[in-house]
Amino acid sequence: MAKVLVLGGGFGGVVAAERLALLLGDEHQITLVSRSRQFVFYPALVRLAFGQCEKEDVSFDLRNTMLSRRINFVDAEVAHVNPDERKVTIAHGQVQGILSYDYLVFALGRRLATEKITGFYEHAHHLLNVDKAITFGKAVAAFEQGRVVLGQCFGARLPVPVYESAFALARLLESKGKRDGVRITVVSPDTLETELADATAAAALTETLETYNIELLTNRRIQSLTQNSATTNTGDAIDFNLLMLVPPFRGSSAAKYLGVTNDEGFIQVDASMRVMGHQRIYAAGDCVNFAGPKMGHMAIRQADVAAANLAAEIDGQARTARYSHEMRYVLDQGEDSVYVHKDLSQNGTATVRHGRFWSWAKEVQRKYWEATHS
Ligand SMILES: Cc1cc2nc3c(=O)[nH]c(=O)nc-3n(C[C@H](O)[C@H](O)[C@H](O)COP(=O)(O)OP(=O)(O)OC[C@H]3O[C@@H](n4cnc5c(N)ncnc54)[C@H](O)[C@@H]3O)c2cc1C
Repeated sequence: MAKVLVLGGGFGGVVAAERLALLLGDEHQITLVSRSRQFVFYPALVRLAFGQCEKEDVSFDLRNTMLSRRINFVDAEVAHVNPDERKVTIAHGQVQGILSYDYLVFALGRRLATEKITGFYEHAHHLLNVDKAITFGKAVAAFEQGRVVLGQCFGARLPVPVYESAFALARLLESKGKRDGVRITVVSPDTLETELADATAAAALTETLETYNIELLTNRRIQSLTQNSATTNTGDAIDFNLLMLVPPFRGSSAAKYLGVTNDEGFIQVDASMRVMGHQRIYAAGDCVNFAGPKMGHMAIRQADVAAANLAAEIDGQARTARYSHEMRYVLDQGEDSVYVHKDLSQNGTATVRHGRFWSWAKEVQRKYWEATHS
């Protein structure tokens, strides 16, 4: 019997645990540890902020779903991982102490490094969790005149909600007859092509921003904030009345104990999703070191590969599943939603599609997750 510990109850951890439960015999024990029983469907947080769905639509209680798939669920905080002794220290929660394992899947996501931007905590909104998205939504609902600045900080790896928020805001103001009194600016830390990891997607987005009369400032890395102004690396001051920023991303704090993280704390893995230099540890999701945006669909594909190889390793088979790094996302903006797909391991261009269908497809995906996980 093997004891498999999966750390993290997001897309990466949940998919890894579910696939392992399907692939491994009943004699093996699978335990999922996460600091919350709630699975959050992050791609729907912009819809939540703009009042297009409810809190109950974006977060589901995982515990019973996991138990029905013969996965033990432990609601607790991971503090430390000791790969030499194959032990994980749990700081507080449903249990406390040491959990031992034979095999580990690390899927604790990323950390929001708000401390890198002076004044972030006091002066910026973000929407990277349910409560923050609701707070940002309230500020948006009350806003009628002035300048709204939205953007990513340097080191953030998530452009989709920035642009979705900009378009949703423009449409909301239009519907209230207030659009003329509000200047909307999007700030990108790089070129748009770098931010979106593709020139075709950047060209399509530039056109849509112009249609919505949204200003785009590129190559501006916001370094510090005061109540109504952001200072960038170029020395520019960007004034605002309302600000929403995606903060810099860093690897999970517990990842450093694996000893194979890059400068930003992301874990180095090979194509089988096994952590470099460790025989029995796999990793998946935002916590791993791959180029480009960090996306849920990548986490799912990585978790699939990690689970297939881990199950093969337990069964004494060859580990043949390989991860190829591709990007696939929908920028939901109603009628003119954009779908982008690109193989990031090649030098090709992205497939870009437009239309209402993609908005619908994104919502269907959320409903599917809800139906299968709550
Ligand atoms: C607003 C927003 C919009 C997005 N839109 C899209 C989109 O349109 N398309 C797309 O593909 N992706 C999108 N993403 C990105 C996507 O949500 C992430 O890439 C994905 O959630 C990563 O999954 P993960 O499992 O690696 O990490 P997470 O989902 O962050 O899960 C990590 C889990 O680990 C738990 N955890 C962390 N630390 C500890 C600890 N110390 N102890 C115990 N538990 C811990 C967390 O509670 C969480 O359950 C969006 C993200 C946001 C925030």
